Amino acid sequence: MTEEPSPQEPQRPLARAPRGFQDRRGGALSVERRILEAVSRVYESYGFEALDTGAFEYADALGKFLPDADRPNEGVFALRDDDEQWMALRYDLTAPLARYVAENWESLAKPFRRYAFGPVWRNEKPGPGRYRQFLQCDADTVGSDRPEADAEIIAMALEGYEAAGLERGACVLKINNRKLLNGLLTASDVTDEGQKLAVLRAVDKLDRLGAGGVADLLGAGRRDDSGAFTRGAELGPRAIAAVLAFVEAGGGSRAETLDRIAGVIGGSEEGEAGLGELGRIGEALGRLGIDQNQAVFEPSIVRGLEYYTGAVFEAELVLSAGAPETSRFGSIGGGGRYDGLVARFTGQPTPATGFSFGVSRLAAALAAAGAEGEVARGPVVILALDQGLMGDYFALAAELRAAGLAAEVYLGGSGMRAQMKYADRRLSPAAIIMGGDEVAQGVVTIKDLDLGRRLADGVSDNRTWREDRPGQFTAPRGAFIAPVRRIVEAAR
Ligand code: AMP
Repeated sequence: MTEEPSPQEPQRPLARAPRGFQDRRGGALSVERRILEAVSRVYESYGFEALDTGAFEYADALGKFLPDADRPNEGVFALRDDDEQWMALRYDLTAPLARYVAENWESLAKPFRRYAFGPVWRNEKPGPGRYRQFLQCDADTVGSDRPEADAEIIAMALEGYEAAGLERGACVLKINNRKLLNGLLTASDVTDEGQKLAVLRAVDKLDRLGAGGVADLLGAGRRDDSGAFTRGAELGPRAIAAVLAFVEAGGGSRAETLDRIAGVIGGSEEGEAGLGELGRIGEALGRLGIDQNQAVFEPSIVRGLEYYTGAVFEAELVLSAGAPETSRFGSIGGGGRYDGLVARFTGQPTPATGFSFGVSRLAAALAAAGAEGEVARGPVVILALDQGLMGDYFALAAELRAAGLAAEVYLGGSGMRAQMKYADRRLSPAAIIMGGDEVAQGVVTIKDLDLGRRLADGVSDNRTWREDRPGQFTAPRGAFIAPVRRIVEAAR
């Protein structure tokens, strides 16, 4: 027999955040905001203008560039509008930019340089540092095919990571060019797009499987330890050897890597074009003062989004012995050249290049690496001890705010001890107490809570504590701002 729900007991939902979506507060939010502000300032210093577009785009405008096609809505969150058109939450900031540029081409000064930040949404399987809503901060140059535009984006990204708080050398930008592998495959008579994609997927696994595993995936396929079989790209032995020689050509200075790549890409027109572009990027990076170990050429870099047509970039945290956790998070940013994205709308080839700074990913990696998160300090709390004085409490708070100090009147219903506990839990620097005695004497009592916390460590018995009242003093009602300010500033 099933139990009838009683009318007195409503069915209550279980309070839970959806998988892959984060609740963030105080300290974590200020870390993200600080990163966003610092990176935006760097982008602006290079002449990029801010642009904000809406969260939704029409699904056909977004295109199908996400790899997670096996999930509902093919990797995006989509809905059908009342006019029957499909809309989807943006999965990055580049696709909306392409739509914006196509829509406003005539009125834009070109090349169009814009930066943008905000949440993006991907309907994919969540994991560590992998969310279904996360923050990106992008800069793109649309309308320039110069490799120097790519170099500038790379230099700017590196400056952005430093501005966000990473030490120089804590992050490396790895650079590759899609044309190299494409050219090499053409020279090896591999022209089928499906086969090319399978090659890219195989190369992408170099880190995890090593050269042997990749060779299997380039050829007949690979059976993993669990017995599962992955079909291979079905390349012949010569093509497999050529691809492996290419992806293993990294290491050393940028010029050394270029020399090695030149020796293995097989002389196709596309490959030579890619090589020439990397050469010019390398030259410009040198002129922009980018060290050899800050930005390297790395032929095994693939990058997921399928719209890239030339140079691709990926930013990785350099693992120090003290931060092994960060390896699980993957790249902290990425980008590249996508010359075909605006042309999807206009039919006109429009060169473009950009970089996406993975703000949420970086914040998560920093937190996991034990970087000190920001501590969210509470406001000055004015205790509400006497109902008849509420108006005076609000006047105190208003005066503090007018002086630039965050302040609030306690609005709960509890007594003095609980109010002090509240101020303590908020990590407030100071509490202000004003009862009948204070009013009669024309003063307020100020409690330096940080000092109190420090002194409390040295006081062992309760009586001494009560008698000494560490960190507590009075100030004239007309001159209480200055001492409060001193306490607040010392707490910063
Ligand atoms: P993409 O737009 O895929 O080229 O990614 C650019 C950057 O966004 C990556 O380097 C990551 O730092 C970040 N990112 C991508 N996917 C996620 C995700 N699911 N959760 C958090 N950050 C992500």
